[in-house]
Amino acid sequence: MREASRIACLSGAIVFGLLLSSCSDPAAEADTVAGEPGAIRGILRSGTADYFDEERSEKVYALQRKDGSLLPLQFSGRPDAMRGSDILVWGTQRADGLHVEKVKVVTEVERGGIGQQRSSLIDPPVLTPPIKAAFVSVSATYTKAMLDARITRDDFIKPVMEVSSYGRWTTEWDVYGPLMIPNDCGGSFYDNIGKNGVAAMQAAGIDTSQYSQIQFLLGSSFTSCSWGGFGLDGHTPIRTDGQRGQYNPWSYVKGDGEGVMVQEIGHNWGLAHEHFCPNSQTPWPKCPGYVEYGSPFTPMASGNNVYLNAWERIQMNFFSGCNVLTVGTSGTYDIGSISLPCDGPQVLRIKADNGETGDFQRYYYLEYRTPIGIDKTNGVLVHYSADIKKGGWTQCDWGGPDCPEDYLINPIGSTRQDALFPAGTQWTTPQGVGIKIVSLGETATFELSFPTPGDGPTCLDGEAWDCKAPVCKGSTGNVGTGGGAPSGCTPDAGTTDAGGGTTTDSGTGTGGSGGAGGSDGTGGATTGAGGTAGDESGCNCSVPGQSASRGWAALTAAAALATGARWRRRSRAKTRS
Ligand SMILES: [Zn+2]
Repeated sequence: MREASRIACLSGAIVFGLLLSSCSDPAAEADTVAGEPGAIRGILRSGTADYFDEERSEKVYALQRKDGSLLPLQFSGRPDAMRGSDILVWGTQRADGLHVEKVKVVTEVERGGIGQQRSSLIDPPVLTPPIKAAFVSVSATYTKAMLDARITRDDFIKPVMEVSSYGRWTTEWDVYGPLMIPNDCGGSFYDNIGKNGVAAMQAAGIDTSQYSQIQFLLGSSFTSCSWGGFGLDGHTPIRTDGQRGQYNPWSYVKGDGEGVMVQEIGHNWGLAHEHFCPNSQTPWPKCPGYVEYGSPFTPMASGNNVYLNAWERIQMNFFSGCNVLTVGTSGTYDIGSISLPCDGPQVLRIKADNGETGDFQRYYYLEYRTPIGIDKTNGVLVHYSADIKKGGWTQCDWGGPDCPEDYLINPIGSTRQDALFPAGTQWTTPQGVGIKIVSLGETATFELSFPTPGDGPTCLDGEAWDCKAPVCKGSTGNVGTGGGAPSGCTPDAGTTDAGGGTTTDSGTGTGGSGGAGGSDGTGGATTGAGGTAGDESGCNCSVPGQSASRGWAALTAAAALATGARWRRRSRAKTRS
């Protein structure tokens, strides 16, 4: 009995090897709780099974008990807890698991870390050591030569994540196979595949303990699984501020397209699908024409030869505080392309609905993407998604499997393929916010008009925006056409003019065109009186651009590039969370 428990513990530790810090004696740690009769305690885990051919996915749930073992859970609706939370469950045990009748959260999953990074993104610190990973064929027809060829392609997981993360998210891959395993899709989260796969690797003399992640290529002959791919869900936020966060080790794919391979390991890292509702700016899972894999612009939906979208990069913490700007005041805003690492705004976030409690759980996220590497996307994309800062889970519509939900929006048409907008496009949100794409070049310039002024622009970390236009790697300084700081931004936060506090509306045409400078900033003059923080650059919103484009070719080579112009930045006390 004790031995059986130890084996269960070990198998759990393999499944959740990165989530468990230790595996203590299960006999000493009951899953029952004093004062909560009938409750079972554990961590809520989930996995995503992708039935690509059927345009649907399925969420499976389990409770990870202290001994590492998994108790399958069946929910009749949305679970009242976020995955990764420490919960108590009550329910009725049946053949397919515990049918949950009640959930009580003991400890919510950690949500911190998002947008707290204040360091420059232009040459972001690289996460070390790289995640050591293996791509393993368990299909007789997927040969070693095919494995070797696959990992060298530009749409393999490694380069896709490196480009999407501005060089941060580093991985190292080995390939093995083909190895033979039973055609067995059983187990919690289908983990017989992982267990059999690891056993086959070990039988072949491979030290599996060196790998934090393994993706198994099953091939189409693995008929016991009817899905096209499966990934255990990690938890957002995945933190990159020197940390990897929590993620899961195994993912399974039938085919080897980017949209399958990256998607399943993306689930491991906590990412969900992006959906689409035709003709709707306020989509939900029950909309007419709902599309589960609703975006051709991300591998987390139906995209191939594309990188992660802005919402996914926010969840992965690939953006710093002011890369994501929440705006509520009318004006002209410039954002950099998300294809390049930038200091300053790259994503505009606009309140989309009040939520049931008036706390704005959903936002529109405006993203500008320019061609780079395998991704030829060129234009503006709009996402409708949760407020990640608040967790974003509390008002998810049950019916779709993902929470927080992410939707691609087409406010001027009906198809998702056409949801990529050129300059000149304009529309009005259901909240009456007018959005116009004025121009697209090195940056995207938007004109926003709010029916009633809201809060001044704030960065994702909650700090007021300092009015500075984006400066991106390889920028020529030829930024924007609209110029001028939008009303409501806070130039020189901490050094506002006496009697300030009102919006400054520093006028149009005073900046934005940039190109001046070229040296390491022109600042130095502390403007305003009584400043406390002592911003040294002043808010002229000009851009000390680089003198010439450097033909920024690939992010993997970014480290080799000269740093070029550095934007003077105030040093903030809060640099790391
Ligand atoms: Zn999926």
